[in-house]
Amino acid sequence: MNIEKLKKASENFGTPLYVYDLSIIDSQLKKLKEAFKKLDNYQIHFAAKALSNISILKYINNLGLGLDAVSIEEVRTGIKCGYDVKKILFTPNGVNFSEIKEAVALGVKINLDSLESLIDFSKAYPNQTVSVRINPGVMAGGNENISVGHLDSKFGITEESLDEIVKMDKEKKIKVTTLHIHTGSDIIENNHFELGIRKIFSVAHKFQNIETIDLGGGIKIPYFLGDTETDLNKYAEVIYEEVEKFKLKKGKDIKLIFEPGKFLVSDSGYFITKVNYVKKSTKNTFVQVNSGFNHFVRPTLYKSYHEIVNLSNPNDKKFDYSVVGYICEKDTFAENREISKVSKGDLLCFKNSGAYGFTMTSNYNSRLKPTEVCIHKNEIKMIREGEKFDDLFRGQIDIFSE
Ligand SMILES: *Cc1c(COP(=O)(O)O)cnc(C)c1O
Repeated sequence: MNIEKLKKASENFGTPLYVYDLSIIDSQLKKLKEAFKKLDNYQIHFAAKALSNISILKYINNLGLGLDAVSIEEVRTGIKCGYDVKKILFTPNGVNFSEIKEAVALGVKINLDSLESLIDFSKAYPNQTVSVRINPGVMAGGNENISVGHLDSKFGITEESLDEIVKMDKEKKIKVTTLHIHTGSDIIENNHFELGIRKIFSVAHKFQNIETIDLGGGIKIPYFLGDTETDLNKYAEVIYEEVEKFKLKKGKDIKLIFEPGKFLVSDSGYFITKVNYVKKSTKNTFVQVNSGFNHFVRPTLYKSYHEIVNLSNPNDKKFDYSVVGYICEKDTFAENREISKVSKGDLLCFKNSGAYGFTMTSNYNSRLKPTEVCIHKNEIKMIREGEKFDDLFRGQIDIFSE
């Protein structure tokens, strides 16, 4: 991390501020490609919901990646950013069928995850190519909110409906060419990945026209020194084994898709705030920063750990602090955290905030959304203007105006 550069960005653009170092997206992609070197037929789709600024999406498109979209708005954003429609996969959950129709009209690939929506699809588009999201029945992921592949989850098709879908495929009501799983985010246990992978390949044998298996996202990155992370080599090895088995048994090749969100962009992002006060109370020393969960919700919502660096005073003696926001309810960023001595006016930087940072911001407490900048070829460039007071009222209608 380049402390001087981050301080400069804060001076030039103010705080709170999101900074993305684009070179880290490249290095993460390189790591992934390195781990997948034995796999020869795969495509990487970036999960847009992790970070959907158009400059970032264009940058990632230029790296040759496709897009994983979970709403029709993300599909349209992808198209606006130049993604080839054939490299956009739309994975909605529980949306109105009109959204699916719109996606078909735009020419993107559709990934459906309920028998009910597949029946609608077969009526509107008989025997058309479709991807089916399978619920692998594994509990995996960093916490309950982001574990989406277990049997109680609303995502994916479970065993009971599978036979019906195989039948629809046989009867040429639908043409299933892709199977998809996404088990959750922050998957630590490699054996959870393994269960999902083995499961989807076993399901693949039931379909006539399978060409692609989409393994979703969920790769866990380390949030601090010594934190757990997904063993990419083991992950790739299990996949390789299954692909080879598939080829042998079916006598044809299979294409893979991966949909990393967090893995590609989390590390590239820094969220920078300024200290308003250091407040002593009976039990705690609170560091009160000029932000709250309206700007960075992961610590509050998921209890996620983000390393905090005092950019203004990085190498001093460390003390225990509780870092909190200014929202009028509990919005703790970190409890009992050791940080290099903090004073009023210091810049505190939250690491690993590139994914699910800005995209989850809100205007709660009538606060304005922050500026986003990126570091590209050593230059700092603004990619989103911070909101202004009037932006709060955009679209509102004052029925009592004179
Ligand atoms: C959110 C999501 C991803 C990305 O998950 P990460 O944990 O960020 O890698 C991939 N695919 C689908 C369908 C998703 O909903």
